[in-house]
Amino acid sequence: MSEPVTAAPVESLDPAHRLPLTFTARRRGKAPRHLADLSTDERREVAVAAGLPAYRADQLSRHYFVHLTRDPEAMTDLPAAVRDRLTEALLPPLVTEVRTLTADRGATIKTLWRLHDATTVESVLMAYPGRNTVCISSEVGCGMACPFCATGQMGLTRNLSAAEIVEQVRLAAATCADGTLTGEPSRLSNVVFMGMGEPLANYNAVMGAVRRLTDPAPRGFGISARSVVVSTVGLVPQIDRLAAEGIPVTLAVSLHAPDDALRDDLIPVNSRWKVGELLDAARRYFETTGRRVSIEYALIKDINDQKWRAQLLADELNRRGRGWVHVNPIPLNPTPGSMWTASTRAVEATFVDTLTKAGITTTVRDTRGSDIDGACGQLAAQVLEGGER
Ligand code: SAH
Repeated sequence: MSEPVTAAPVESLDPAHRLPLTFTARRRGKAPRHLADLSTDERREVAVAAGLPAYRADQLSRHYFVHLTRDPEAMTDLPAAVRDRLTEALLPPLVTEVRTLTADRGATIKTLWRLHDATTVESVLMAYPGRNTVCISSEVGCGMACPFCATGQMGLTRNLSAAEIVEQVRLAAATCADGTLTGEPSRLSNVVFMGMGEPLANYNAVMGAVRRLTDPAPRGFGISARSVVVSTVGLVPQIDRLAAEGIPVTLAVSLHAPDDALRDDLIPVNSRWKVGELLDAARRYFETTGRRVSIEYALIKDINDQKWRAQLLADELNRRGRGWVHVNPIPLNPTPGSMWTASTRAVEATFVDTLTKAGITTTVRDTRGSDIDGACGQLAAQVLEGGER
């Protein structure tokens, strides 16, 4: 089981350990190299180093990204001896299923995965009319310490590698393709980085994964960039960096309060980048990519759900232009031991109405799997604590 980062000996910490501990990840536990960590050329180099022709790497990529398999038995176009050598060099086992829970009459499947160093992360696959979405993790735990979030209470254990992120997507795509999710073969269309972790705090691995998701098959899964959502607490320099990548993924900003007085408490990193700076960065993201930004707002009873805060939010967004943003209020999913609960339906309706009347497109997020601890990090937290029901 993972230890909290503060228990790690100093020499095992990232060289950047002068940063607050919660903002760094341990190097120990780094995942073995995998095809999905590498560019096409790098994969070919590995094949050649293993004594095989370069094109074998391309065949392996096709099995992985198109047929969604890492099982050598399924690779019948490859000589048996070659399959094993290639799989060993490029497809090490990275994630193993620990537990799977189903809710919403099979339309929501949540899986807890064990990684090579016995740490765990979760992902949630959701079927909707016309699309299938997987919510994936980018880190083991999270260093952002948001008090209402189950993962925030765990602290950060380590970053995931690009391939550990991609594996969650491949396994979800396979669950769609084999008919398990909807009863007939379907396609995974959407990926949201809204599981455990702060994706922009693990920037390089997350970008590596985004490339594998959006690269056309057989180099990647060929998922459209607009169908990939990167959700962030608001690391402003990384938002600008993401805008400059030329891969117009959808940006979601976890705002949760329109004023610094409250946001300082709800999102600790607000002490570094204030609401105004964050909304300016979100607006720049829209200008550079043309992608409408999504503002996430967990509605917490009597904390951030006042009508005046809805109006202040609308004013702050409208001040920066029209039509560049939409708001996603999310009913709070209470975490165990927390005093906070979701806003009442009536208060939620007033909040939405205030934004809508101010011209802001607003859609309340459909909450899935609350009976299976659907909220971010809750299943992993429960299994970690040995408190399984
Ligand atoms: N670290 C990233 C992505 C992970 S969380 C981020 O913060 O954006 C995805 C979304 O779920 C975020 O908006 C987060 O604030 C929200 N969230 C976390 N805990 C929640 C809870 N208990 N109820 C409702 N939303 C929650």
